[in-house]
Amino acid sequence: MPAPIESANQRWKALHGISARATYDRAYDRMRKAAGSDTALLEKLRHLRRWYHLRRVLLAREPLCRECAAVGVVRPAVQADHVRRAIDVIRERGSEAFFDIDNVQPLCGSCHGVKNARERAEA
Ligand SMILES: [Zn+2]
Repeated sequence: MPAPIESANQRWKALHGISARATYDRAYDRMRKAAGSDTALLEKLRHLRRWYHLRRVLLAREPLCRECAAVGVVRPAVQADHVRRAIDVIRERGSEAFFDIDNVQPLCGSCHGVKNARERAEA
């Protein structure tokens, strides 16, 4: 009978004796402490060259606002927006998740403003 296939997480856990999640939590705590607050941490990440690069790649690949396009409106995108709130994915998966292009969408200024206001109201 073949050995069961372990997930990368299980292998990691066996190797280090703790879960990857706990490591992410500690990494997040360290980053947040160094930055001072969630807002300061996000601000820091947004100023990294890596974020500018990701934003340029995204807007070059998909230059129109995704939310406008969904209702048949053609409007240029000017913002790279985290589909799920950046702070939520960072808390779950560490700062690396900030740069997950699958969680970033192109939006026009108007859609970005509306989404931000909605997220602030929900927070
Ligand atoms: Zn839009």
